[in-house]
Amino acid sequence: QKVLVSGANGFIAVWVVRTLLERGYSVRSSVRTEEKGRHLKVIFGNYGDKHEIVVVPDMAKIGAFDEAVKGVDAIEHVASPVSLTEDNIEKLIPPAVNGTVGMLRSAMEHGASVKRIIVTASTGSIIHNDPEPQVFDESDWNEQSLELLAQGGPALTAPIKYRASKTLAEKAAWKFWEENQNKINWDMVVLHPPYVFGPAIHEVTTPSSLNTSVSEWYKYVTHPTSSGMTDEDLATKGSSWVDVRDLAKAHALALEKPAAGSKRIIISAGQFKWQDFIDAANALYPAPKLSQPLPVGNPGAGSANPATRHMFSYITDRATEIFGLDYRTMTETTKDVLEDFEARG
Ligand code: NDP
Repeated sequence: QKVLVSGANGFIAVWVVRTLLERGYSVRSSVRTEEKGRHLKVIFGNYGDKHEIVVVPDMAKIGAFDEAVKGVDAIEHVASPVSLTEDNIEKLIPPAVNGTVGMLRSAMEHGASVKRIIVTASTGSIIHNDPEPQVFDESDWNEQSLELLAQGGPALTAPIKYRASKTLAEKAAWKFWEENQNKINWDMVVLHPPYVFGPAIHEVTTPSSLNTSVSEWYKYVTHPTSSGMTDEDLATKGSSWVDVRDLAKAHALALEKPAAGSKRIIISAGQFKWQDFIDAANALYPAPKLSQPLPVGNPGAGSANPATRHMFSYITDRATEIFGLDYRTMTETTKDVLEDFEARG
């Protein structure tokens, strides 16, 4: 079985590639330039011809993946622009939407052997902001991001723009899938992670080249004060999260489990406040050897405090029923990420 993985040099995708190779699949990794494939060639060198690289320079172009989809049995479409600070919607929406629909179209027209396509979406296409805490499941759609996108103005913040790009891309994917049922031989699974944390095995040369989610973790868990976070912020700000290795396993299981077909599936280990990760880090034994001492914040003031409110929570029964995932704990993820930082100095 050969699987095409798009955006293969990214934080999540490289774990997807590794997990698939470890499970015996052959993988074709798509990246934007030869240069971006170099690190992958090194880390997956021992898989010989079970791992190959394909260069797709601009996924927003029609037919970009026409060659890449030939001869593969399945596709993991992970590539999408990820930024919580990008203000230019042209940099977010066209690549997210055209990249996703383009992949599906290429698979329809040139991927005769493709049986299943997994799309990495985000809980950003499910949630909406509300003054009161909300519980979401796979029937929810982030219509709010699209309303704000249409209205413009100050409420259309960069994170909302990113969520709108993910919502539009996912809507376009389901629309394409529905409209072309009589022309396609594959079914589709859409996975919805919240914040994804974990050790990085993609090419990271400096902290600033960390991907968006791990970069926030690095700032807020190891040096929150100089990153502008007060103790109050650490205790009250957070979201939901999942370890990248569990998410990568879900990407593999999404290929393997027939019951996943035609479904949206939320993959979340639970909620967090940044203080929770700081508490987990300080409780590690032996203590991590970092260049600076760990911050302490206000221990126990995060999720452990009964007064703490989580604005978003997810019903994750579908993932449990179909995948039976055993999620890594905050302690495990924290230990492994800090060891990763230690190893990089
Ligand atoms: P990364 O930034 O590490 O990886 C993104 C990948 O997408 C890279 O390979 C990047 O290529 C590629 N990409 C970005 N923009 C374009 C473009 N315009 N054309 C072609 N390729 C592009 O992000 P993550 O690994 O964190 O995210 C991967 C996926 O997971 C995304 O779809 C994201 O929306 C989703 N996700 C991530 C979450 C997280 O917390 N990390 C949470 C929820 C969903 P290049 O290196 O060349 O720029």
